[in-house]
Amino acid sequence: GADTSSLSDPHFHVLMMFTKIDKSRSLQEKFRVAMLSMVKHGDFLEEEVLVLHFVSDQASQELGQRMLQEVLLDATFQYEVVFHDVVELTHKLFPIVEAMQKYFSAGSGAYYSDAIFFLSVAMHHIMPQSLTRIVQVDLDLKYRTNIRDLFQQFDHFPPGAVLGITREMQPVYRHTFWQYRKENPQTKVGEPPPDGLPGFNSGVMLLDLRAMRASPLYNQLLEPGNVAKLADQYRFRGHLGDQDFFSMIGMEHPELFYALACGWNRQLCTWWREHGYGDVFQLYYRCDGPVYIYHGNCNTAIPDD
Ligand code: UDP
Ligand code: MN
Repeated sequence: GADTSSLSDPHFHVLMMFTKIDKSRSLQEKFRVAMLSMVKHGDFLEEEVLVLHFVSDQASQELGQRMLQEVLLDATFQYEVVFHDVVELTHKLFPIVEAMQKYFSAGSGAYYSDAIFFLSVAMHHIMPQSLTRIVQVDLDLKYRTNIRDLFQQFDHFPPGAVLGITREMQPVYRHTFWQYRKENPQTKVGEPPPDGLPGFNSGVMLLDLRAMRASPLYNQLLEPGNVAKLADQYRFRGHLGDQDFFSMIGMEHPELFYALACGWNRQLCTWWREHGYGDVFQLYYRCDGPVYIYHGNCNTAIPDD
């Protein structure tokens, strides 16, 4: 677009949720794999800085600071590390996302602590105005390419798009939209690619915070009355937080999303293949083309290559 400020801003912002890490050896190991592969392939210009944001509790922060010293040793680029207090962010988020929690959270109540699972949805209101782009990534990833290349994808956003995201690679939304699909047999909702609307996966997200702030449509969709309207229209009940919200509004307004190639978030989980969807599973799971980032979701092992 006409915005050229990013060309001169040498900061590349990446955010990860990083809570209760001290309680899980498995998450610690995933974090190590993600960071070591990010560092190994990371390549930036001399004046550029990779800014690593972590949303964390006290114990996880202390552990994270120790682990980062180790995994960042071989970095050939400049970096900064910023820890955000999960309690403070939750406090800011809750009033914005409270109304959507009952549709997209586990359980029926709007639990205060679950608000953090909707951080990406309202990030444009939470982060300072000076922050215009941020990439949010899971910890259970393995990078096979320079993370700087991911940021180039921002430049392909069409006008009106606020978020870059990869499609979901299991038939989970075929399942979630079951009732809507029964009542609307011709719908593309929940159908596989390339012609269907399989929903999104939140493991890798490019948030154009400036576009999110500037989009009247996106901000209307955050309003409690409109969330309720869409959720009722689609008979939607889920428990995957931001991913469910984005997948639902994407059914109605696909133009808000820039579809990242499947290789940018190559999900490996096959849970739904064994749970009633074996016949259609491959239609969702297949991903042709290069894999830039593996996502070992639902604790799936990531190939060594
Ligand atoms: N996460 C965290 N603490 C936890 C569980 C999850 O910080 O106790 C964060 C972490 O960044 C993780 C993300 O939440 O990558 C999503 O969880 P996960 O990747 O396990 O979900 P999946 O991709 O398997 O659905
Ligand atoms: Mn994950």
